[in-house]
Amino acid sequence: MAELAAYAVVEAHSRGRQHAEPAPSARGEFQRDRDRVVHSTAFRRLEYKTQVFVNHEGDLFRTRLTHSIEVAQIARTLARALSLNEDLAEAIALAHDLGHTPFGHAGQDALNACMRDHGGFEHNLQSLRTVDLLEERYGAFDGLNLTYETREGILKHCAPKRAQELGDVGRRFLDGTQPSLEAQLCNLADEIGYNNHDVDDGLRSGLLTVEQLDETAIWSRHAALVRRDFPDIAGRRLIHETVRRMINTLAVDLIEETRRRVVAAAVASVDEVRAAAPLAAFSEAAHAAHRELKHFLRLNLYQHYQVLRMTNKARRIITDLFDAFMDDPRLLPPQYLAMARRDKPRAIADYVAGMTDRYAIREHRRLFAVGEI
Ligand code: MG
Repeated sequence: MAELAAYAVVEAHSRGRQHAEPAPSARGEFQRDRDRVVHSTAFRRLEYKTQVFVNHEGDLFRTRLTHSIEVAQIARTLARALSLNEDLAEAIALAHDLGHTPFGHAGQDALNACMRDHGGFEHNLQSLRTVDLLEERYGAFDGLNLTYETREGILKHCAPKRAQELGDVGRRFLDGTQPSLEAQLCNLADEIGYNNHDVDDGLRSGLLTVEQLDETAIWSRHAALVRRDFPDIAGRRLIHETVRRMINTLAVDLIEETRRRVVAAAVASVDEVRAAAPLAAFSEAAHAAHRELKHFLRLNLYQHYQVLRMTNKARRIITDLFDAFMDDPRLLPPQYLAMARRDKPRAIADYVAGMTDRYAIREHRRLFAVGEI
């Protein structure tokens, strides 16, 4: 790895793992974190979890898996350009959505409503729970035993009440400090990733049109550049040429603005990054353009009646499953039944959250369809 900046996370100063382990021999500690994430069961399940479109709606839409890979690509570019720890950024990005429920945000909202009287459900906290507790791969400990820095990056937000229970990684939500720059950038790489691929998927699905997108400043500006360079361009090529320019503009803007803030704050260590105001940021102009695009997507894609029909159905499936297991936990598979003896609602939430879209649909059919077994 090229020489890192003074404000980058370096392995030598890592706060380490919860359970001490011998150092890896052929790779770094953050590479090991990344590798553990890639080999986890939760990571493979991302292939069959909705980003916006349910997994079976088409083969070419993003899933949580391809989304996570795209976010990791952007995060690595940002980290390398700023001489930050690329391995750490990659590990955080690949792990950031491990706790997502089936059916995207509709699933998360439904499960949170089911868990209202039992401590709530939040996918970001669930990602941490997955790597800290739920993965069963090692003899010596539960979870993946990732480094503090990767866990810190996975936990993007957290209510103060929950933060108290989380110990070291929760502390910053109580004392108002920041995570590493690698973590801050992963968060924004996630936004760059989903806003742009949702444009692409929205157009592919036919729920959005190019004419509608021309109403947004960021699309129309970049599409105009594409049409200037390629006057006859249309269809898929116009979309892809425009989207790739939008991603590039946002990534370059983020790198430049972050560099400017890092210089202005004169941070010389990770601890100074943690104590400073947030340093990873878009310029004001890019932030406004990005926000407009987000607003456009909420109004025209996420609230499109065809998407709402799916999210409505998803809510019903999640709620039905949760209620059925609460009524009779003996319907749970054995390992979850054992967990339910300690904390019934949380064990059910863990089971439901771990489901893929199609597993949840099948499980619903198995429990509710007359004539199915
Ligand atoms: Mg994400």
